[in-house]
Amino acid sequence: MKTRQVHILHGVPASAGIAVGYAVLLDTKKIERYPKIRITESLIEDEISRFDVAVDLSRRQINEAKKKLEAQHITKEHVFILETHLMMLTDPSLQSRVKELINKDHINAEWALKTALQEIEKDFDPIGDEYIRSRIADTTFVGERLMRNLIGKKTSGFHMLENSIIVAHDLSPADTAMLNKEKVLGFATDVGGLTSHTSIIAHSLEIPAVVGLENASASINPGDKLIVDGISGVVIVNPSESQISDYEHRARSYLSVELRLKEKSKLPAITKDGTHVEVKGNLEFREEVRTVLDHGAEGIGLYRTEFLYLNRNDIPLEEDHFEAYKAVVEAVSPYNTVIRTLDLGGDKFYSSLGELKNEMNPVMGLRAIRLCLREVEMFKTQLRGILRASHYGNTSVMFPMISGMEELRRAKDILDETKHDLRKQGIPFDENIPVGIMVEVPSAATIADILAHDVDFFSIGTNDLIQYALAIDRGNEYVNYLYEPLHPAVLRLIKFTIDAAHNVGIPVSMCGEMAGREIYTPILLGMGIDILSTNAFAISHVKEMTRKIDLEKCRSIVEHIFSIKTAQEIYDFMSREIIENTPDIFDIT
Ligand code: PEP
Ligand code: MG
Repeated sequence: MKTRQVHILHGVPASAGIAVGYAVLLDTKKIERYPKIRITESLIEDEISRFDVAVDLSRRQINEAKKKLEAQHITKEHVFILETHLMMLTDPSLQSRVKELINKDHINAEWALKTALQEIEKDFDPIGDEYIRSRIADTTFVGERLMRNLIGKKTSGFHMLENSIIVAHDLSPADTAMLNKEKVLGFATDVGGLTSHTSIIAHSLEIPAVVGLENASASINPGDKLIVDGISGVVIVNPSESQISDYEHRARSYLSVELRLKEKSKLPAITKDGTHVEVKGNLEFREEVRTVLDHGAEGIGLYRTEFLYLNRNDIPLEEDHFEAYKAVVEAVSPYNTVIRTLDLGGDKFYSSLGELKNEMNPVMGLRAIRLCLREVEMFKTQLRGILRASHYGNTSVMFPMISGMEELRRAKDILDETKHDLRKQGIPFDENIPVGIMVEVPSAATIADILAHDVDFFSIGTNDLIQYALAIDRGNEYVNYLYEPLHPAVLRLIKFTIDAAHNVGIPVSMCGEMAGREIYTPILLGMGIDILSTNAFAISHVKEMTRKIDLEKCRSIVEHIFSIKTAQEIYDFMSREIIENTPDIFDIT
């Protein structure tokens, strides 16, 4: 029996909360070894039918996982991802590729599958326009499942003990669906960043999680006692009695704070000196709009419409756009809904759009507005949907990834042409629909003073702004430590953007993750941000922090932090400030 040694792992705090329980290891790591066998002509049919059986079994497993998710009323997002997996699994191009390889190259099904997956991952077939280009991660999950079923390894289907903490290399939505929510207290995974699947799922299940731990699955033994601190991103393996009682105390305080905040979530966020700060919600699926409003959102500050393009092998029609946006706008009115035009491409996921090749450097490639300006008809279809929906409630439109004036002018010209067409057809829309841009490319922040004259509002997208300004992939666990919202360069870009907007009298919102962390709230308010838009669960926190501060004090905080040279020193300063002035908010960190 191995000795159970105390050690501490550091990762990314993906979902807040504290869990104390026992490690259950899930073998989700890539199957590196698989049999490679050359087969004779007479075995070809056998190998093909082995593959068909594996596909069938995988389909049943995913369907079962999907049913469980639906029964648990988990957000549609996860069901959606599973549906994408199902489509990938049954996609004829994957199946025919594998079968062709078996047939032509006389190789066994495992080898053929691996080769086909590598081909798909490397180079999304340019002829196969109908192929659903989902995220590479999704391809991997589906491929892994097929491979496990082929070589007879059991997939997921775990028996949970009470107080389990799931430790895995990575977790797919299907893995998660097999978990018994009652018994699983937390997640700890090797890979992932704030935007990985595990983080998304953990967030909506409200289960504490730390991701990007690099080697949790290798260094934790089954049955090890664990503390998962999803607030500071720490996992303590085999903690001492005193560490356990300390964390149990923190967990109780955390829960009581959560409960208290939830009760006040619908009240407005008014600073001590009387300024009302609007706190809005971010939305991915129209089905989630109720949840977001129930968490106290005063409108939708970012509707990520690219999710409409998932789970289908064609491009949405104008009616699809219109219906989705109308439903949201009507539910949210009289509050405003900011509908962001398509931000497909990059590292989010791939679509069936033929233009999206497997680019060398996708986050800097044909993404968001760049794709729309190339696919003008597709862009106009979405704009028609947005404009038509604007007739039914308070709506704004926003362009993502604007990097310069030419792009903005072109996007606005296309919007004007679309308005003109609707007018000619006598279709009603809001003639004065506000037009804004995401400020998330450093060049846009740097010329915010120029861009500000041509828009009605800015919304700062810190997820990308930080990624591009600091040159770090936002999903890569090895460089996560560099992902620093308090980096002086980031703060300067934000401040410059806000000042530029205010100089011409337009409002500025922030809709990146930074808007949802209350340690940053005093800085953002001190810099003059007008609106904060965040995920549903952070709304009550941000509101509460806003109620506890006064703007004059925030301004002096900002003045001071601009003289500090590093992100860590600014963080330390902020922690001291907050502990001193609002001890009840941060008494558990
Ligand atoms: C951002 O970049 O901060 C943002 C809100 O957009 P997304 O996360 O969808 O890229
Ligand atoms: Mg972005």
